[in-house]
Amino acid sequence: MSKTTFVTKEQIEEIVKDFPTPFYLYDEEGIRKNAEKVKKAFSWNKGYREYFAVKATPNPFILKLLKEYGCGTDCSSKTELMMSEACGFEGHEVMFSSNDTPPEEFVMAAKMGAIINLDDITHIDTVDEVLEGHFPETMCCRYNPGGVFELGNGIMDNPGDAKYGMTHDQIIEAYKILMEKGVKHFGVHAFLASNTVTNDYYPTLAKQLFELAVELHDKTGADIRFINLSGGVGIAYTPDKEQNDILKIGEGVHKVYDEVFGGREDMKDIAIFTEMGRFMLAPYGVVVTKAIHEKHIYKEYIGVDACAVNLMRPAMYGAYHHITVAGKENAPCDHVYDVTGSLCENSDKFAIDRKLPKIDMGDYLIIHDAGAHGYSMGYNYNGKLRCAELLFTTDKKAKLIRRAETPADYFATFDFCGLTDKMNAEDLK
Ligand SMILES: *Cc1c(COP(=O)(O)O)cnc(C)c1O
Repeated sequence: MSKTTFVTKEQIEEIVKDFPTPFYLYDEEGIRKNAEKVKKAFSWNKGYREYFAVKATPNPFILKLLKEYGCGTDCSSKTELMMSEACGFEGHEVMFSSNDTPPEEFVMAAKMGAIINLDDITHIDTVDEVLEGHFPETMCCRYNPGGVFELGNGIMDNPGDAKYGMTHDQIIEAYKILMEKGVKHFGVHAFLASNTVTNDYYPTLAKQLFELAVELHDKTGADIRFINLSGGVGIAYTPDKEQNDILKIGEGVHKVYDEVFGGREDMKDIAIFTEMGRFMLAPYGVVVTKAIHEKHIYKEYIGVDACAVNLMRPAMYGAYHHITVAGKENAPCDHVYDVTGSLCENSDKFAIDRKLPKIDMGDYLIIHDAGAHGYSMGYNYNGKLRCAELLFTTDKKAKLIRRAETPADYFATFDFCGLTDKMNAEDLK
């Protein structure tokens, strides 16, 4: 099996006339089709909303595009809240799911009318203090069941080791206290496993949360309005794995919804929320980079003009990202290369011992599945600059949605001491 790309060599050659490599390229058509499918998968649930996890791809053009499909945003920091507000997301269209939260960010979220999702029971006191007792009418609490979360097919994660959420007893206590403080409507949230490639994750998690909602309702009398399944729906990064089917996932959640809430007249019309990041964007963004150097020592190296500051996942987690050589999609993969960036860090490799077609200098490499947790994890090590983000529109034109950083951006935080006055103005551009 192989992974296909949404852009051809000829199209890349056109794009580079205006925008030099490296750059991110997002597939508008792919994003739209997928967003439509997600909406359809949960259309059985009247109050359904996907709150796109802003941290995955914090770009206003992407956020506005998703807004057309009814998406809200899931924010975890001041700047993510600011971006959401500036993009026109209002009130309950914003979820504030943060942890280790600076108290003033609760104030900002409350002012926006966002739904605040409390990660810890002690945050009730924090909110009480900073909002001077004025709790929002609707609040959510994050649950951590502890132990090990297993799906049977090799997928497991370790909530007991994770810093997030409240224990079972804490969340019951939290609801009681919040009700005393005047909170009227509630949500329940949990994120138990990351990048799950199985159609069973959401249904399994949903069942746990639905049963917890029933217990919370029965023990505290709380009015539960929504269940937030959070993120964690994955994508297959390697070409041999089967992709998740969101329609099946939606059906699976529907089935357990009917099982748990079916006979409950007092728990009707509970909305399902999701906070997917990766599933919404990862497959629809690529890094396009040029081969600029080859090196033959103990191994064969291809150096490209992107590096780990542009896409950190391989360096950070050893993550696999498929690579296609533009124009050589059907050529035999009869060479073995390490594909590297230029950082002074040996982990700066986009691929290790990868079978690829023969790469010539000047070839364009397409690094797949970089649309989420890609650009956003960028940094400036070695004084490297972040690249541009382009939207490949439905009419196959490249539209700039974030310009590349310049040296002036890199030095901007020294603006108080006149450092750049001593530099060549041309170099700063
Ligand atoms: C990161 C995150 C998400 C998105 O996770 P994905 O794996 O990208 O789907 C959603 N909710 C919260 C609270 C997160 O921290």
